[in-house]
Amino acid sequence: MNLNHPVTYIKGVSIARAELLYSELGIKTCRDLLHLFPFRYVDKTQFYTINQLQENSAEVQIVGKITGLKTVKQKRGSRLVATFSDATGTMELVWFKGAQWIKDNLKANVPYVIYGKLNWFNGTASMPHPEMETVQAYKSKLQMAMQPVYPSTEKLSNKGISNKVMRGMIQDLLQQVFGVIEETLPPYILEEHQLVDKREALLNIHFPKSQELLAKSQFRLKFEELFFIQIQLLQKKIIRKAKLKGYVFEQVGDAFTNFYNNHLPFDLTNAQKRVLKEIRKDAGSGAHMNRLLQGDVGSGKTIVALLTMLLAIDNGFQATIMAPTEILAAQHFYGISELLKNTNIQVELLTGSTKTKKRREIHAGLEEGTLHILVGTHAILEDKVQFNNLGIAIIDEQHRFGVEQRSKLWKKGRGNEAGGAIPPHILVMTATPIPRTLAMSVYGDLDVSVIDELPPGRKEIKTVHRYDSHRLAVFKFLKDEIAKGRQVYIVYPLIQESEAMDYKDLMDGYESISREFPTPQYQISIVHGQMKPADKDYEMERFVNGETQIMVATTVIEVGVNVPNASVMVIESAERFGLSQLHQLRGRVGRGAEQSYCILLSSFKLSSDGKTRLQTMVDTSDGFKIAEVDLKLRGPGNIMGTQQSGVLNLKIADVVKDSSILYSARKTAIEVMNDDPGLAKPENSSLNKVVSQLRKKTGIWSNIS
Ligand code: ADP
Ligand code: MG
Repeated sequence: MNLNHPVTYIKGVSIARAELLYSELGIKTCRDLLHLFPFRYVDKTQFYTINQLQENSAEVQIVGKITGLKTVKQKRGSRLVATFSDATGTMELVWFKGAQWIKDNLKANVPYVIYGKLNWFNGTASMPHPEMETVQAYKSKLQMAMQPVYPSTEKLSNKGISNKVMRGMIQDLLQQVFGVIEETLPPYILEEHQLVDKREALLNIHFPKSQELLAKSQFRLKFEELFFIQIQLLQKKIIRKAKLKGYVFEQVGDAFTNFYNNHLPFDLTNAQKRVLKEIRKDAGSGAHMNRLLQGDVGSGKTIVALLTMLLAIDNGFQATIMAPTEILAAQHFYGISELLKNTNIQVELLTGSTKTKKRREIHAGLEEGTLHILVGTHAILEDKVQFNNLGIAIIDEQHRFGVEQRSKLWKKGRGNEAGGAIPPHILVMTATPIPRTLAMSVYGDLDVSVIDELPPGRKEIKTVHRYDSHRLAVFKFLKDEIAKGRQVYIVYPLIQESEAMDYKDLMDGYESISREFPTPQYQISIVHGQMKPADKDYEMERFVNGETQIMVATTVIEVGVNVPNASVMVIESAERFGLSQLHQLRGRVGRGAEQSYCILLSSFKLSSDGKTRLQTMVDTSDGFKIAEVDLKLRGPGNIMGTQQSGVLNLKIADVVKDSSILYSARKTAIEVMNDDPGLAKPENSSLNKVVSQLRKKTGIWSNIS
């Protein structure tokens, strides 16, 4: 028998059971079952008496006798209820299924050991579908202080695959295959990291002989799991670099140098310089560039994007930058046009509201190659938009785009005709920092650049949390700031599930603010998602031009908007926003020379997570720290990109809790791959074997970009 055999090879596993295991837990082979790890352990040497039971007891084990039995009719079918007693009291045992069999086999007045979860009705404990055996049978078996509890589903337990059954299957399996379990890691890695061997780890993860051995086994299995993910990511990167040809940007020419020397309005930060170097090296290598640029709000990603586009132009290519909203695209367009106004580089803006005539001009310019830079929204992705020779596509605020949209950009390269399609280089930019641990496991095969430094002279944004009851004081503060010539954002939540209510809140808020800040002294803009784009633009423009002092808005202004004179951000019902959203919103201020403020308003009723979020915002402005807290609060499942990466399919490791194991697994994987990229050396044969097995299972092999 070997581990690739289906679970039906295990004694007592029928075809029906095997099918259930597959449909419920994805378990097909003996190997799969062996890698179904307990998620906790219970102490089966401990007993309770009935009078010790409490409403919050988890699973309990009790010795007693059956002293009564009745069948209770209910709407559908019936249930079997037994009275169970010990010297201290009585409780109920309940079966909804298999009642007849149980009735026939239960023995009255014989001591049983029962084990299970409790339900409570009117102060009486009842245990549905208890695990039970006679005291005699119990005594004949070795009892361990740590018994495994396996992941299960309702269907599994309803169909009789209880934890006890699962435990039995795995025990039998271990006995049958123990001798053929192969070591997956080479001796030099086991030794370097002091790992227990695979057999011992599997045995002790299921049936721990001691706390210490359990801990060692967990460590080894976590390390192994993370290590193989890293090996696969690194391999994928090597394959991508080797296979996917990219345009070569080999020279720095006039466009770049002229701009850099004569029109760049400030010195680049060291971080910006470093990132540019990374991009140049990558785009000059002949391989395709697929790079993620992370940089906190306000770190100056746009200028890096522009210089990268100039590099493309110097090498005879066109460039495009795509933003998630019209407002942001327009802002990029005006900013870039302004910076390039004394050069002969042609820039145009394409969005959903571009007029037909203009649109035709743009299409023609793109096809002829006379238009160098196209700034736009999703409109860029339309089939009608054809480039003469697109060399690089930049995506701003990439978390706002789906994978599908991103992949469309790949196809805008020159080689659209038959054969030899070379995709444009891709640079995706995000201000939502991805915690290092997650970046390693999600984007481990992408190249990542980080701008980890803000331009000089930025003042820290003062952030405070105030309860609704302080609203009047907040309004007073706003008036003082406006009197100094500043502008103010007031943001309301708009969450899809409660859209109608939120919309009402926004309008109520707008009204009360209009009352508090009357015309003509104060002018107010309002922007929300239900407005026509043209109206939105009009309102936005009035604010940008300083005609209005207050911008009441939903999170449509979250991303990218740049109004340096706006220095106060008020966030209403701040407890309802996620951390990354709060951080993005706060990034809308602090863009000018003035001291800026962020005021988080909330009700008194705060969940503990809500409190942590607000406190985190008050405590720090470091986007990476905020992202780490966010990851801890929400888990990796809610963070962009994790779905595609296999991070969620981890069986035992946890990228948040086991970050130190992740670091060392990644380091080891890099060493191994540097030394032996094909895993061809004899000492790596066990690795090679596992990796080819994993490859068949897909998982992290789907393309992220
Ligand atoms: P983000 O990374 O959030 O997209 P932007 O590119 O919009 O940031 O830059 C924010 C502001 O900082 C802009 O006004 C930009 O002109 C300015 N800026 C960018 N780089 C520098 C720098 N090296 N020195 C001074 N100001 C800079
Ligand atoms: Mg930006």
